[in-house]
Amino acid sequence: MDGAVASAFAELGLGQPIVQAVAVKGYTIPSPIQLQCIPAVLEGRDVMAAAQTGTGKTAGFTLPMLERLRHGPSARDRVVRALVLTPTRELAAQVGENVAAYGCYLDLRSDVVFGGVKVNPQINRLRAGADVLVATPGRLLDLQQQGAIRLDRVEILVLDEADRMLDMGFIRDIRKLLALMPERRQNLLFSATFSASIRALAHGLLHSPLQLQATPENQAAPTVEHLLHPCDMARKPALLTHLIASNGWEQVLVFSRTKHGANRMAETLTQAGMAASAIHGNKSQGARTRALAGFKAGELRVLVATDLAARGIDIHQLPHVVNLDLPNQAEDYVHRIGRTGRAGHPGQAISLVAAEEHELLAGIEKLIGVRLPRQEVSGFEPTILSAPPLDLSGGRGKGRGRGPAAAAGRQRRPANGNNRHTRNR
Ligand code: AMP
Repeated sequence: MDGAVASAFAELGLGQPIVQAVAVKGYTIPSPIQLQCIPAVLEGRDVMAAAQTGTGKTAGFTLPMLERLRHGPSARDRVVRALVLTPTRELAAQVGENVAAYGCYLDLRSDVVFGGVKVNPQINRLRAGADVLVATPGRLLDLQQQGAIRLDRVEILVLDEADRMLDMGFIRDIRKLLALMPERRQNLLFSATFSASIRALAHGLLHSPLQLQATPENQAAPTVEHLLHPCDMARKPALLTHLIASNGWEQVLVFSRTKHGANRMAETLTQAGMAASAIHGNKSQGARTRALAGFKAGELRVLVATDLAARGIDIHQLPHVVNLDLPNQAEDYVHRIGRTGRAGHPGQAISLVAAEEHELLAGIEKLIGVRLPRQEVSGFEPTILSAPPLDLSGGRGKGRGRGPAAAAGRQRRPANGNNRHTRNR
């Protein structure tokens, strides 16, 4: 059996130390993206891949990257040989863990750096250079400006979740970083969605790239069952509590559009006797890491997260993902439900939708080309059937500068035409 396991990855061109590490992880068959990506990266080609979390994309770029790096001279003196940029600390940490696991039989130095933690230990660690450095753009730029690293020897650059990096406003940092790297290097770009701005970035960055698609662009994974419960905005916390209890769901990831809404939901569940926690950008890195670890270990039954905090979190085969509210951006629906129905395991994506969200819903259904099946829950039938759409400007900083508190307030208030926080757009 082990021989067969080894050969599937070896046949793609990976050497023994990496094949062995993959076998230890228990992977039997390369995922579709890995089948295409690994040989191309080994050949030195640029790659542009539409792939979201759950497709095996991380191994898709990490395995061949390590294979290439192991044949060259090791890093030294603040030199970075391969750089992986990620939008969030969580994703950076996760990719870093993958690099360490896949490289455990190799003599390569890898490191992870992100903001929100002390910079000095990072500077000290990087003195000897890094064969692979996984980083968020802001902190990396800081380190470069402090002379802690050199990017003029970068051989391979990976932009992971590039769409999210642009959404988060990292484009200027990325451009500054690109200017510090040598012209001759291999570029790999991964993105769940391909907007015009991603294509523009890709155009300036990639040289005749191999274009890959892990799932059809902007399409949800086919093993996910979608379900929509219409309800009033104000009753969502009670409905979710009821759904979790009455269905006996063991592990639920809940998405909230606002930090305040995430906190409030976690509190409601805790009061109902369910182990729940919220993660979002206002929580310290320690609190986020603890909550995530608790959820992964099964100590937390419910994790309530904002889109940014949840981005790229690798949680296996979650049976249930709930949208407490619909995301501002239709593409985020696809990102969110990427957490369920993985690797052939069926999953359920449940959305609680109020009248104020009907425009958002229409956008999502148009994007994924599926009408979400509606199902009212007895005792929670909506009383408000039409309402002006939500003002989304308080969302995640893309809008016109209203605070998240205003958005959270709207979220609670039953809609009526007089609600001074709602307005037509
Ligand atoms: P990713 O899409 O990179 O976030 O990976 C999703 C999950 O799939 C990770 O937890 C990987 O450990 C796992 N994985 C990656 N490649 C394979 C494979 N070939 N077989 C089974 N699991 C895999």
